[in-house]
Amino acid sequence: MLKSLSVPLEPTQQPVTKLTGIGAQSAARLEKLGIRTLQDLLFHLPLRYQDRSRITPIGELSPGTSALVCGTVEFIDAIQRGRPSLICRIGDASGSLSLRFFHFSVQQSQQLKPGTLIGCYGELRYGYSGLEMVHPEYRIVQSPEQLCEPTLTPVYPLTEGVPQTTLRKAVKQALTLCLSEGGGIRDWLPAAVLSRNGFPPLAEALQTLHNPPPHLNIAELSDGQSPALRRLAFEEFLAHHLALLQGKQSFKRWRAPEFHFENAAKQAFIERLPFRLTGAQQRVSAEIQADCEQAQPMLRLVQGDVGSGKTVVAALAALMALHSGYQVAVMAPTELLAEQHFRNFSTWFADTGYPVHFLTGQLKGKARQATLQALADGGAGIAVGTHALFQDQVQFHKLGLIVIDEQHRFGVHQRLALREKGSNTDMRPHQLVMTATPIPRTLAMLQYSDLDISIIDELPPGRRPVTTSVLPAERREQIIARIGHWVVQGRQAYWVCTLIEESEQMQCEAAEKTAVLLTQALPAVRIALVHGRMKTVDKDAAMQAFKRHECDLLVATTVIEVGVDVPNAGLMIIENAERLGLSQLHQLRGRVGRGDQESFCVLMYQAPLSLLGKQRLGILKESHDGFVIAEKDLELRGPGEVMGSRQTGQIQFKIADLGRDRHLLDLVAPTAAELQKLAPEAIAPLLERWIGRNETGEIGLMHAP
Ligand code: ADP
Ligand code: MG
Repeated sequence: MLKSLSVPLEPTQQPVTKLTGIGAQSAARLEKLGIRTLQDLLFHLPLRYQDRSRITPIGELSPGTSALVCGTVEFIDAIQRGRPSLICRIGDASGSLSLRFFHFSVQQSQQLKPGTLIGCYGELRYGYSGLEMVHPEYRIVQSPEQLCEPTLTPVYPLTEGVPQTTLRKAVKQALTLCLSEGGGIRDWLPAAVLSRNGFPPLAEALQTLHNPPPHLNIAELSDGQSPALRRLAFEEFLAHHLALLQGKQSFKRWRAPEFHFENAAKQAFIERLPFRLTGAQQRVSAEIQADCEQAQPMLRLVQGDVGSGKTVVAALAALMALHSGYQVAVMAPTELLAEQHFRNFSTWFADTGYPVHFLTGQLKGKARQATLQALADGGAGIAVGTHALFQDQVQFHKLGLIVIDEQHRFGVHQRLALREKGSNTDMRPHQLVMTATPIPRTLAMLQYSDLDISIIDELPPGRRPVTTSVLPAERREQIIARIGHWVVQGRQAYWVCTLIEESEQMQCEAAEKTAVLLTQALPAVRIALVHGRMKTVDKDAAMQAFKRHECDLLVATTVIEVGVDVPNAGLMIIENAERLGLSQLHQLRGRVGRGDQESFCVLMYQAPLSLLGKQRLGILKESHDGFVIAEKDLELRGPGEVMGSRQTGQIQFKIADLGRDRHLLDLVAPTAAELQKLAPEAIAPLLERWIGRNETGEIGLMHAP
């Protein structure tokens, strides 16, 4: 408090109420746009621009465009027929034009007397009487020159109750205050970075974007081609990357339990497994072990394609924690996957004497209480569950390791919040994050820069690639017949119903309908249904029945995307495949090809399929490598799509756009390294500018010790 009294705030840090025209009420409304200080206002960029820098002669106007015109009122007429409207006809030397108002006042009609010179701005269209503007902005002028603006006119994203004109005036003032001497707007990018990339200095970029000189191309300004916008987008990417790096560095300053681990115990565990570890599994397990023997928390991401065997690697890490006297939490994104992990861990740890608990949102009443109690005062043990594990009521006695499976289902911010779990001391548990969704390197930098990365780049031996075909939905009957033949041979199959963007409910209904239709078409086939809205017991029963081969065909929604493991199921039909992301399709397909027999995947699409759609599905036919598939998908669809909200965990950018600004991504990591070395003092202010402060007033993404 004292500090803020003695050191006057620079204009950039002052509240928007400082500006003429912004009172407490407007300030409260602006806060909804995340705008509190003048600096925030400067980084609130226009959505688009209008050209009011010149007057267009009426004779040169064309429909569909917007223009500034100036003319003399020729006549005015209030029409009562139909919808009442006021028509005002204006003309200049080159022609005439109608202005149409549906809402108007008596004063308005009196003001617009014939002979009055008015200027107006609006969009042109063809009406009853030729070219017209509906509800243009207009004003009465003495001379046309008065109308022209010296710069292009910015159009800002608005919040209710703060009109465009108020925002424009506020930004103008903020620019004057902050860009003048002592205004406090600092360019934190080193000059070398600017010149190397052709970026303008910050003040110039802001000036250009808020008040572009009239000769600039509006289209270029809006679609991100202008150096001014590129520079800001780049700075924003850089800030996000730096935030993750900083988060990692400060998190590593906590203490963590040092696991002590006898190799004999590890060997005994491995020998009890029904398979031999692959080289990649051994390597990654050793990397994890080295991390966990340190007194600082591990933050490690294990990337490995579907079926590469990540779970057992996590189990080895868990074994380390247990042997050192700690608890382990294993979190999965769905109930189904959590149940499967629970089963696997229960089997693998059965001979070790350590308890394996199960906790999901479905667990209620006494059973839940008992589990919570066990976690709160128990010794070494494993808790497998969904995100229910991390609710406030769940207290761990001595949590030493957190495993998060299929991390792409959880957001960056969720992941960061989890780090604080079990953190009533200065100790933090080790963290192991697993994903089968390979994210191309350039994108990983905005997603995973706070993690060390291990890659399982080898599948267990004996896996055969899944033969994939792409067929139109018209061939449905044939496909159904094929399931019949398949089942007769004693094999099992999946039928996956997908509906994107629609509600989960609709997806489940579609699956129910499909199950009925298939039952009619294939009376000899035993069919089970699994979807997200079923009760856990029913889902579980259906899955178990499928596993035990008490049914032949499992009709499912994309809930089976992760986890399900039934080697005898070697045929998968995916409906509406063209509407899914390639990585998601690859994940789904990973459910088959788990046994040693040949297996198949049919990607069914609704015709007609676009050229892009054909290319995309073609990639799945050609490739079985999750990384290759992700890279190709990125190439075809752009990062915005590939990192759709599901995968990014909703990184919200103020200005940058992953699709539009993707070419900037490669520059980010090297520039961040340069900044850390040459201008470390720039990092905190950059984070404050772009990421903001958290609830406790600290800058950046998380708490540091
Ligand atoms: P994912 O990496 O997709 O999570 P899982 O851990 O579910 O893969 O493993 C897929 C299947 O492969 C499981 O049935 C698992 O028991 C089996 N598995 C894991 N490692 C090996 C191995 N080294 N050799 C043979 N099978 C393995
Ligand atoms: Mg898995």
